[in-house]
Amino acid sequence: MPTTRIKLLRAPNLARLCWLAHGFSTRAPGAFNLNYSVAKSPAAVVRHRRALLGALTARRPWQLVTLRQRHTDLIRVLPLEGSDGLGRPSRERDGAAKFTGDALLTDRPGLLLAVQVADCLPILIADPARRVVAAVHAGWRGTLAGIVAKTVGRMRQEFGCRPKRMLAAFGPGIHRCCYEVGREVVEGFEAKFAYWDKLILRIAPSPSQVHWQQPLMDPAPGLPRPRPAVTSPYGEKFFLDLVEANRRQLVEAGLKAKSIWASPDCTACRTDLFFSHRAERGKTGRMMGVVGIVQR
Ligand SMILES: [Zn+2]
Repeated sequence: MPTTRIKLLRAPNLARLCWLAHGFSTRAPGAFNLNYSVAKSPAAVVRHRRALLGALTARRPWQLVTLRQRHTDLIRVLPLEGSDGLGRPSRERDGAAKFTGDALLTDRPGLLLAVQVADCLPILIADPARRVVAAVHAGWRGTLAGIVAKTVGRMRQEFGCRPKRMLAAFGPGIHRCCYEVGREVVEGFEAKFAYWDKLILRIAPSPSQVHWQQPLMDPAPGLPRPRPAVTSPYGEKFFLDLVEANRRQLVEAGLKAKSIWASPDCTACRTDLFFSHRAERGKTGRMMGVVGIVQR
């Protein structure tokens, strides 16, 4: 497959860094699936992955590192202890990622860290001063577990990175317009985050029309902040804003708001461009968010 036909999206803030390569794949051209477990033909995935690596030009070949993603807050720092020191935990030849987790982190050139997505948010983080990169897979479970904030914490701890200097990029994912969630998800966020109401949009259906409501109005001066009821007898619907949830975690972790870029694209709205697990009822491919340090 000619690499010129691959449509990769790039974040402007990361594109400025000459030592780093990154991209968010789309479903173009054709059905550009990058995941073995949902593939009809593993050979096609091999071809697609090869084309992806080819599109991220580098003098020396990349070694692609993937994970068995489980919606956890488990972070893998590469090279892993006990590996061969070359970050070879995941032998892509047979397609089997050897380790489970939902975030990858390295300071080692030549490793291309990948997270696989179809609605969940792919988040790439870089520290230009220390030259450390991370790739994070954040669905509602990972977000609730604080995976992106924990990844920033590990970058500080392992490599002495400073959040103020870090850059972050959110690839296409399911946005609030399409991400209806159950009451138990809302309750999870309410229990964990003081600002939970900023992340949840409530829609209360009425006999005549559907009202789009603000999650929570600011209280009048001097009055206590009212607590809206999570449950409702009227069959309210709840929509989660994954982008805002992860943006807030990063800002609370110390990143500057202006250092965070988010793709405007919702995967469920744009199934012409992206795979969407939700919009395509589970029968779809996977895209990748990838980031790596270029070998000189
Ligand atoms: Zn949408």
